[in-house]
Amino acid sequence: MTHHLVLALDVGGTNTRGEVLDATLGEPLARAALPTPERDGEATLTTIEALCRELLGRLPDARRTQVAAVGLGVPGIVDTTRGTVRLAGNLGWTNMPVGDRLAARLGLPVHVHHDVTAAGLAEQALGAGAGVDDLLAVFIGTGIAAAIVAGGVSVRGGLHQAGELGHVPVDPDGLLCPCGQRGCLEMYSSARAIGRTYGAVTGNPAATSLDVVTALGHDPRADAVWSEALDALAHGLLGAITLLAPSRVVLGGGLSGAGAALVDPLRARLVARARVAAIPPIVTAELGQRAGVLGAGLATFRRIQGAGGAAAGGDPADENQVEVAEPAQVPAAVRGWR
Ligand SMILES: [Zn+2]
Repeated sequence: MTHHLVLALDVGGTNTRGEVLDATLGEPLARAALPTPERDGEATLTTIEALCRELLGRLPDARRTQVAAVGLGVPGIVDTTRGTVRLAGNLGWTNMPVGDRLAARLGLPVHVHHDVTAAGLAEQALGAGAGVDDLLAVFIGTGIAAAIVAGGVSVRGGLHQAGELGHVPVDPDGLLCPCGQRGCLEMYSSARAIGRTYGAVTGNPAATSLDVVTALGHDPRADAVWSEALDALAHGLLGAITLLAPSRVVLGGGLSGAGAALVDPLRARLVARARVAAIPPIVTAELGQRAGVLGAGLATFRRIQGAGGAAAGGDPADENQVEVAEPAQVPAAVRGWR
């Protein structure tokens, strides 16, 4: 068991990254990446297969035979028990049996995980959430999504979509989100939203959230945009913290690169507003872009070890640890934006 290897892949909207990992999840034996095709489900499957073959090709023969499984981290609504992706709009997958399709092509068991849940699992096991059983990991980039660990168990919910913090409304009459709701948090506090808002006030449509952070303290417009984004983020986070009472909040994703400029004023807002909830320590993520790959690897090792053998591939104690019922349908509100 200890010599087994896993091909761990993080299927991103722009690039798909992969590493060959052993159970220590230390330095990878090989790594590679390929551009992710745009909204073409079959091409995405072919890209993942090609990346797996590339990774296998980089291993010596003796190690190649030790590869026990493939683990994929996928954005969208993922049924990890069946290895089916219900909906991943940007990848062109709807009710796609990704696990079975790739397993048939590769001749290896393929385990499918939710990307943000996997990244949160990695931060909890190996990064900024180490030692904490009740963790809220919030990833802020193009959108906003959270990984919830409660009592040491990763929570995905019965419909496989717990953690959609970006679509928690913070203003019922606010901006219209592509998901169809108004006032979703990620319309105000995602890196994309912050760049867009700054672009609107400066007349530079190419403005990014990094421009805002760089201009803090020099450009009052940047200060105002940042302050509004943090107000909304504090509003959304206070709801999540009140509900879940995490022992630690980890902030990841591109925006977490702002470091203290993000954490300190956010924490000050939370402390100023909170009356019922205790505000736990808020820290930035430690694993960076590797979190998704490491999480896919970690969740896969837990599966194959839980199954008692790599080839078992049955219903192991996976990162969810909860058997889920088949939902009647994907709720209308979550169609079409991911
Ligand atoms: Zn929304």
